[in-house]
Amino acid sequence: MIDLAAAIALIENTAAPLPPRRMRLLDACGRVLAAPVHSDVDSPPWDRAMMDGFALRGDDVAAAAAGVLEIDVVVDLAAGDVTTLEIRPGCCARIMTGAPIPRGADAVIPVECAVDDTQGTHAGGQVRLRDDKFRPGQHIARQGAAFRTGQEVLAAGMTLGAAEIGLAAEAGATHVVAAPQVRVAILSTGSELVPPDAVPAFGQTRNSNGPMIAAAVKLLAAEPIPLGIAADRPEAIRAAVAQGLAADVLLLSGGVSAGDLDLVPEIFRLCGVEKIFHKVRLKPGKPVWFGILQREQAAPTLVFGLPGNPASSLVCFELFVRPALRILAGLPREQWHLSRACGRLTAAVKAAADRPVYLPCRLAKSAGGLEATPLPWTGSSDLLGLAGAAGLIALPAGGKRFEAGDEVEVVVR
Ligand code: AMP
Ligand code: MG
Repeated sequence: MIDLAAAIALIENTAAPLPPRRMRLLDACGRVLAAPVHSDVDSPPWDRAMMDGFALRGDDVAAAAAGVLEIDVVVDLAAGDVTTLEIRPGCCARIMTGAPIPRGADAVIPVECAVDDTQGTHAGGQVRLRDDKFRPGQHIARQGAAFRTGQEVLAAGMTLGAAEIGLAAEAGATHVVAAPQVRVAILSTGSELVPPDAVPAFGQTRNSNGPMIAAAVKLLAAEPIPLGIAADRPEAIRAAVAQGLAADVLLLSGGVSAGDLDLVPEIFRLCGVEKIFHKVRLKPGKPVWFGILQREQAAPTLVFGLPGNPASSLVCFELFVRPALRILAGLPREQWHLSRACGRLTAAVKAAADRPVYLPCRLAKSAGGLEATPLPWTGSSDLLGLAGAAGLIALPAGGKRFEAGDEVEVVVR
């Protein structure tokens, strides 16, 4: 049995980022960029109208008598239209947002500034404009104001969210080099288990870990590969484990404690998985197992044996599996773990004598900081207490009773 901090350090030292790959831009959504993206265009690519209105020479406005400018409209420019025409003094273009500013023009007067019902004026007519807030150069986004051709617009290490994908598209990157999606095989072991769509007979238990762990994997932008249920028979578990070892990570639940039918550690050994630790001073989650399978042609497979009890399984996922998946996905250290904060208890809780305890709680921000309200929870098989828990209260070993108002450490989910 090892300490929680030692277990986490072993995971951090064992897991390594998966080798990056070139992939289609949208396939990289949620992945970490491994090579920077440079733009093949200026942004904006040319001087762009930012308002619907009239593009003209700012000098004309300065020269207008009594603030009203009467001016000839010589061309209509919608977004996508271009012209070689030059705007001369006394002339303007009727222009729509997104169209290139024609030569000679250096400001846009919004269409709302047209007076005497001349708003609808098109090429061939005359418009009268009054813009009391006129500034030289107004309502034009200048070519290259945001970034220039050749400029690095996305750095390696950035996670590609919606804005980053949009920017890469604008910069002309149809493909990027990024960490691949982490593939995670999920196997539930136990002869008592039945699929969630079955009505459990006496002695049977629905496989809640399978969907729960798959959901936790999905929420980390990794790919769950559900392997279903294996009964507590060595051949059944071994066949399923062999299949799961083809993934980047195998998450197995159940059968890892010390009972007669806790066959999993021996099966891992027979499959060539090297044990790194088994059992951690932690409540819930003590039976957790972690190891690694070295592979010839591929990155190693990380293997976790999670406790069968669902709440224990999820706590172990949050504390141990999460950082492993984050590391494999190439994320920077600050993003490996759930954040920890200081919270004030709203009710008393008791620590365990021998190991740290994690208790589900609600979190609320108050004037005095974060408030942690312990949720009613019957223990490691109770998912009802965990559902809706925004955090986990982390109590150190020592058996101390913490009172309402005491400061405790909370893990924010
Ligand atoms: P084990 O770790 O196999 O000794 O299982 C501990 C407890 O967790 C037992 O009550 C099991 O029935 C239960 N359990 C194991 N696997 C699952 C699962 N996939 N879904 C729900 N409960 C489970
Ligand atoms: Mg079992």
